[in-house]
Amino acid sequence: MTRRNHDIAELKRLDVAHHLPAQSSYKLQRDIGGSRIIVHAEGSTIFDGDGNAILDGMAGLWCVDVGYGRAELAEVAREQMLELPFYNTFFRTATPPPIELAAKLAGLLGGDLQHIFFNSSGSESNDTVFRLVRTYWGIKGEPERKVFISRRNAYHGSTVAGASLGGMSYMHVQGDLPIPGVEHVMQPYVFGDGFDEDPADFCARAVQDIEDRILAVGPEKVAAFIGEPVQGAGGVIIPPDGYWKGVEAVCRKYGILLVSDEVICGFGRLGEWFGFQHFGITPDIVSMAKGLSSGYMPISATAVSSDIVETLRSVDDDFVHGYTYSGHPVAAAVALRNIEIIEREKLVDRVRDDIGPYFAKALAKLSDHPLVGEARSLGFIGAIEIVARKGTNRRFGGKEGLAGPIVRDACIGRGLMVRAVRDSLVMCPPYVMTHEEIDRMVSIIAAALDETSETLR
Ligand code: PLP
Repeated sequence: MTRRNHDIAELKRLDVAHHLPAQSSYKLQRDIGGSRIIVHAEGSTIFDGDGNAILDGMAGLWCVDVGYGRAELAEVAREQMLELPFYNTFFRTATPPPIELAAKLAGLLGGDLQHIFFNSSGSESNDTVFRLVRTYWGIKGEPERKVFISRRNAYHGSTVAGASLGGMSYMHVQGDLPIPGVEHVMQPYVFGDGFDEDPADFCARAVQDIEDRILAVGPEKVAAFIGEPVQGAGGVIIPPDGYWKGVEAVCRKYGILLVSDEVICGFGRLGEWFGFQHFGITPDIVSMAKGLSSGYMPISATAVSSDIVETLRSVDDDFVHGYTYSGHPVAAAVALRNIEIIEREKLVDRVRDDIGPYFAKALAKLSDHPLVGEARSLGFIGAIEIVARKGTNRRFGGKEGLAGPIVRDACIGRGLMVRAVRDSLVMCPPYVMTHEEIDRMVSIIAAALDETSETLR
């Protein structure tokens, strides 16, 4: 492969002059003279235009599960582009790849989740959920069931419906969100919200909060509960034992649909194909994206139960929802091959039996650091909590979010890409990361913590 030579200074200038990157402060983008420009990647390492090799502790954006540089994904895209680059799936047409991919996903999901609607992003998938659920209840003769219950600090995307379903208050401020019909309840964040509590009591309280809200809204008005098996963008929040079984029981008690947003947790991240399988629950709807194609193409999928499909089939009306790129043949062909790679290389087993436990052990070493309040992981996703005082969940400067970005920047400076969510340093590496790279990731974090403790104190 010939790699292009980029004029990085010129690209940075053009970036400031013309490009608005996602989820960014445009003032900061300008003040630092343009974005960091990533030009190449291989395995678990990204390379920027300034000549830095950076270990990617975030798999891009929680998505490049099979790692970078997979030539066969490029080849399959090329072949599909030459055969049929595009045709839509509107009005009862289709192309081979999305049909094959739907059948493949149905096999992985198992049980009753046998029908798949395609979109291009996780946000779009959750928009599909929003419209599908309300349409379902309308056909069922319960059109007043419109309300979605979600959690504070959840992330379900950046479209109007996605950001409304999400529970990020700083996102709600922009655009006057959430839209009506979304209720946010407490998140199962033991370290942050239940620090001094017995985890079982905290779990019962978090589940009870859902039931209380259902009763306050009126069970006959509640359409669905949506949640990520492990909240990713909210700071890798791993719920206490029994939480998901409790949530499922409450949903069943009131006949409410249960939606598992597997955009991060799907495709092996927790050591099973899907997070709901790890927690032993049966959702009615599953949203997936990211790991579906390992980020090589934009594609997402919304799986629904047969009850939902049969309900939609009980009327003649079209489900008047869909995107030009729903079931895009190139994206679907790449996703299929990506799943084939995960199966062939047994990457889900690798997460569960090898790198997951190895990562947990490596992270546990960080628990002893004076700045670390907790190190937690499940499968191959994890976080450390940065605290001002060991044994407490007290934060530097008496406020959330001061220390996290400082430690993150120190990590990036030392060659590790991680993200800071307030004062949690989060990690979600590619499944191909080696033991040596995991050790390096942890020792860079330790060094970054040492380096910044002076500044922080
Ligand atoms: N849902 C979850 C759980 C996510 O983590 C994300 C993105 O991070 C989304 C939805 C939105 O996906 P996208 O950014 O592809 O729209």
